[in-house]
Amino acid sequence: MLRFALAGNPNSGKTTLFNSLTGSTAQVGNWPGVTVDKKVGTYKTSKETVQVVDLPGIYSLSPYTPEEVVSRNFLIDEKPDCVINIIDATNLERNLYLTTQLLEIDVPVIIALNMMDAALELGEKIDIDAMMKIFQVPVVPISALKNEGLDTLMQKALIVARHSRHGWSVIEHSSLKQVFDQVHPLVESLPSIGSHTFHIVKFIEGDEMEKAMHPHIYQQVQEIESALPLDNFKGDFGGKVADARYNFITEHFAEIVRSNYNPHALTKSDKIDRILTNKWLGIPIFFLTMLLVFHIVFSHDFLFLSVFIPQNSFDIPIIGTDAINSPGVILSEAVTYICDLIGLGLSSILKTAPTWLNGLIVNGLWAGLSTVLGFIPLIIALFFFITLLEDSGYMARAAFIMDRAFRRMGLSGRSFVPLLMSFGCAVPGIMATRTLESEKERRLTIMLTPFFSCSAKLQIWAALEPFYIRESMPDLLFFLFIF
Ligand code: GDP
Repeated sequence: MLRFALAGNPNSGKTTLFNSLTGSTAQVGNWPGVTVDKKVGTYKTSKETVQVVDLPGIYSLSPYTPEEVVSRNFLIDEKPDCVINIIDATNLERNLYLTTQLLEIDVPVIIALNMMDAALELGEKIDIDAMMKIFQVPVVPISALKNEGLDTLMQKALIVARHSRHGWSVIEHSSLKQVFDQVHPLVESLPSIGSHTFHIVKFIEGDEMEKAMHPHIYQQVQEIESALPLDNFKGDFGGKVADARYNFITEHFAEIVRSNYNPHALTKSDKIDRILTNKWLGIPIFFLTMLLVFHIVFSHDFLFLSVFIPQNSFDIPIIGTDAINSPGVILSEAVTYICDLIGLGLSSILKTAPTWLNGLIVNGLWAGLSTVLGFIPLIIALFFFITLLEDSGYMARAAFIMDRAFRRMGLSGRSFVPLLMSFGCAVPGIMATRTLESEKERRLTIMLTPFFSCSAKLQIWAALEPFYIRESMPDLLFFLFIF
């Protein structure tokens, strides 16, 4: 059975394509050793059955995130029969960055140029033939959403899969060619190692996995690199390789996209960025946004309406007392109200039961469960707003704004979203840390998450409060011991 891998950036339409190709045959599991989803399905033609493996969405094949490591190991070690590189046609420049890396591996590649419907709407005209010539692999325009071009894509992929392919790198066409040629024989000397081009480039980049596996070769690569005159990258070869990739893409962009479409024109998103990430306005806007979210979720005085309500004139259960509760609190109070009613019902049913049984069920089990149920609306409401901010793209901007402050603690702006999520619940907050680049940053963020209190933890802080106030250390220690 043939095996195809789907590789592409997050949001390139990989899931949509995978679902269209494999339908109900998909099986979801985990990649061994990591909590990264592994989706495998089958695509059937009259002659052949193809296993389609959906690799995690990635921007690069560097070993920074578990997703990148999983994708890289699969492509290098398992050697699929064909890699379908799905790219978003409306975001070509960014998506092609990963393409330049996939092309370095000795495996058949086909480019699925997705979202062609949206690209046409934007007035973007892509020269498919020019793209094939530049990247030296077949390119098929598709629209995964509208199910257009998928049959052609798979037919061509089946043809591509029959022929082996040697990887090539765009850096062979850059000023780094000299280094490439010198590192080549070193990599060739390694026994039983395939995809030479990929490994050469990774050695030049100073890739951590190559360094760890072949330290002696890396030492020789460094000697070659240090013999070169220093330029504006001051010996940062990872930066030089990234620069060579982007240069290659921008140099050929005009040949690929022929239309009035100008990727450098200020889009609506750029204009929004200018305000939201502004040096002076960024942080105040961020705090106002967060204040608004927390106000809508947790406030007992929604929009400060209590100013207009005379004292002792308004008291409606759930809605509020001399003020209106915020939507989050209304939901939570409603759940608590219903739970209290059920509690009363339970206690009247158990009226004749022994007191201990009544107490165990009503004041113990049910009271405990109701407390937990009371938090759930607050957590759901907070997550709803955080997801809304994330989907609107604001979170990415907020992470950018917070980057500077976070760097002082040895973190980057990316840690910000997991930490913020922990106000809702630490569990998804900790799960969200897997997108962080380094193991150290991931650990540090995970260790910090418990300090961002969710509503459940607030109850515990509240219970501890009398000890802080009375500064009674032995009481506090006794409480913690019991807890
Ligand atoms: P993934 O993150 O790569 O798995 O991307 P998804 O499959 O979740 O798609 C991201 C978004 O792009 C979704 O909102 C899709 O509906 C949308 N999308 C996917 N394919 C197409 C397409 O061919 N045309 C258009 N216009 N939108 C698409």
